[in-house]
Amino acid sequence: MDQIFRIYEDKLLKSGLADPGAPLLGLLDARLSWNRDDIACAELERLFDHLSINSLVFSQPAEPYRSIVDYLAETSGGIIFPGDCETRTFLHDLPVSFNFSSESIILALKERKSVIIPGHGIITYGTVGLEQAYVTFSSVCFACFVKFFSDYLFDVKHGKINNKRQNLFDLLVKRLDPAPCFKASLMKGPFDSAMSVRKAIQEAGMLIVEHRLVDSYFGNISFCYNDTLYISQTGSSLDNLQGFIDPCPLDGSSCTAITASSELPAHLKIVKNTDSKAILHGHPKFSVILSMDCDIEKCECRGQCHIKCPHERFVGDIPIVSGEVGSGPHGLCNTVPEAIKDRPGVIVYGHGVFTAGQTDFNRPFKNLIKIENDCRAEYFNRIR
Ligand SMILES: [Zn+2]
Ligand SMILES: [Zn+2]
Repeated sequence: MDQIFRIYEDKLLKSGLADPGAPLLGLLDARLSWNRDDIACAELERLFDHLSINSLVFSQPAEPYRSIVDYLAETSGGIIFPGDCETRTFLHDLPVSFNFSSESIILALKERKSVIIPGHGIITYGTVGLEQAYVTFSSVCFACFVKFFSDYLFDVKHGKINNKRQNLFDLLVKRLDPAPCFKASLMKGPFDSAMSVRKAIQEAGMLIVEHRLVDSYFGNISFCYNDTLYISQTGSSLDNLQGFIDPCPLDGSSCTAITASSELPAHLKIVKNTDSKAILHGHPKFSVILSMDCDIEKCECRGQCHIKCPHERFVGDIPIVSGEVGSGPHGLCNTVPEAIKDRPGVIVYGHGVFTAGQTDFNRPFKNLIKIENDCRAEYFNRIR
């Protein structure tokens, strides 16, 4: 048990989501265990009696998330409504409980995967293990970060920032991670075996996570070798892809499409319709934030722009397209492959970035970082 607790404490710290000593983790096996003693345990034990859960994470997020989450919660009126893709596909919205009582927490968690208690932290749970609780915790932090900076940009343009919010914003900007930077090089192609392809995918995955270009189990990676697309599995963490890469023949003959990434259709179309072989997809924050900044106030698709916005938009030479996860009629597999032709990458509205390269992951990885850093710089240009 202790070993599992250490793994998830480490994950929360390493991804910058919590400070040392902050996370309280509960896991129900034969009996309920906690990673440490805390006065909150007594109250939180009741959650296990009233909800069908087997694991729980309760923690103050680390800065800058902590101040962001508290600010959004306190100004929310009870529910936070983020507009990014992780929230839409995964969380719906973020309920707030203004007091730390099991009754009010249980009420929120009966409907949603998380609850925020301003001044105390975020509670998330899993039904089959701590991984789910961790993934949700990560998505809540991601969603709140994206919402805070998106809302600020929108309100700055409309002259609606008061002093308190401006002071908080200035403080948070000082606490941001430094812009990602990468000077070394990844495995060089062309690759001569499926084994090297798998290694190259694993290496790229580790670096994407290390540079915080994606959170928890989101993002995906593929490489086309010998008419087979090697792609990360759905629900796999990009920093741990060994054993989680599926070979999908391009002719569709024996596809493991059930476990393959949900973005398999987009990856397949890109390799079939362009001369790219290496594809990366991450959720870098400022690219997501900037993708939702649109000056077309009367867009006929307002509220639906993530699905089918007809307006062409760019950040520099990078197009922003609409599209939902997966292969439906409004799936991003219908927009990304066309838009990525002859370009360094594509940003999907409210979602993330795709980059592609011809021989290995060097170019797509550097482009992923460049797009994120360009978006970050452009964000601060736009608020000036
Ligand atoms: Zn994605
Ligand atoms: Zn639109």
